[in-house]
Amino acid sequence: MIAIIGGGPGGLTLARILHVHSIESVVYERDAGPDARTQGSMLDLHTDTGQAALRAAGLEQEFLAVARREGQDFRMLDHTGTLLLREDTPDDAPMLRPEIDRADLRDLLLASLPDGTVRWGSAFTHADGRLLHFADGTTAPYDLLVGADGANSRVRPLLTGTEPSYEGKVIVHSSIRDADRRQPELAEMVGRGNYWVFGPDRMLGAQRNGNGVIQVSISMRTAADVDPAAVTDLPGEWAPQFRRLLDACDEPFAVRPTYLLPIGLQWPRRSGVTLLGDAAHLMPSHGEGANQAMRDGLELAEAIAAHPGDSDAALEEYEQAMYARTAAVAKRSAEVAEMMSPPDAAQKVLRFFGAVE
Ligand SMILES: Cc1cc2nc3c(=O)[nH]c(=O)nc-3n(C[C@H](O)[C@H](O)[C@H](O)COP(=O)(O)OP(=O)(O)OC[C@H]3O[C@@H](n4cnc5c(N)ncnc54)[C@H](O)[C@@H]3O)c2cc1C
Repeated sequence: MIAIIGGGPGGLTLARILHVHSIESVVYERDAGPDARTQGSMLDLHTDTGQAALRAAGLEQEFLAVARREGQDFRMLDHTGTLLLREDTPDDAPMLRPEIDRADLRDLLLASLPDGTVRWGSAFTHADGRLLHFADGTTAPYDLLVGADGANSRVRPLLTGTEPSYEGKVIVHSSIRDADRRQPELAEMVGRGNYWVFGPDRMLGAQRNGNGVIQVSISMRTAADVDPAAVTDLPGEWAPQFRRLLDACDEPFAVRPTYLLPIGLQWPRRSGVTLLGDAAHLMPSHGEGANQAMRDGLELAEAIAAHPGDSDAALEEYEQAMYARTAAVAKRSAEVAEMMSPPDAAQKVLRFFGAVE
């Protein structure tokens, strides 16, 4: 039996594409059920990774039905409120990076799996020989174990002692519900897609979700245990509309410190165990993590299907290709993270978009 720990984008994509190849798997997910927690912001799925995986999963039409072309809209400002760049997506623009709500993506993948594939409320703790152990005391056997359990993977220690380290940056976030009705001016200001404001020491971001929610976040280099008020308390030179945006948020701000695995992490090959997604290659969150996790799911499923009864050959093929692909992407993401770092991020980003010399 193939056991997948974690029902995020990577684990569910793997289970779905295995199913397309008539290969059974079980996804053990820690959440108590599909609605146990909100799924957060939008993801832009790229043609060669996230979208390629959905094509192989036979879910392209379902994806296009819920994807938001206008989510590709983009406004960039500096902290004084000066508009630096604005891109509105024409109605006939190609769907190169359409946005999808995380919750919609999860629903779409869940609906495509046979009943009972996902075992909710199954928090994996450790494996002992070929037996999985869960926090509620239950156990289950496996032949092939895939750790798709994200940044703080409990499967990863079976393969490597390497742990993620603090990137030195926090994301402080909250959201505004039903924004068009309750905060029409702010909703108009943010627009239909992404809204970035660069300041001398922090960056404010807002993003429209499909369900009328605006996600609001500030990223800043500081200590992991910072008081969120120290981040949301904008210095005096910030224009007042940005304070209004923060004041309109419905929930108290939460702090998410960001962690990274070393670029190019590999582990000694071990029979019957592997990793995918953030568990394998946690990188700066610049639009690649979910895409790479889904591409991992696609490539691992196809390697398993190509080597029936020989999971070692499948893992060898999958891991070598995954190491090379994701190391290159993680290096690029680190360069983007550097570009987006204050104090001169706005100029660097404008140069990147070809908007200034
Ligand atoms: C603020 C932010 C914005 C981002 N924006 C983007 C973006 O626009 N585009 C993009 O491609 N990526 C983006 N990312 C990155 C992306 O969210 C991750 O890379 C992606 O979710 C990784 O998918 P995954 O399936 O590997 O892991 P996860 O999505 O982390 O899923 C892991 C699953 O495993 C479960 N789990 C964890 N531990 C256990 C356990 N012990 N037992 C059982 N289940 C367990 C969890 O409940 C979860 O459901 C962003 C990240 C952040 C933080």
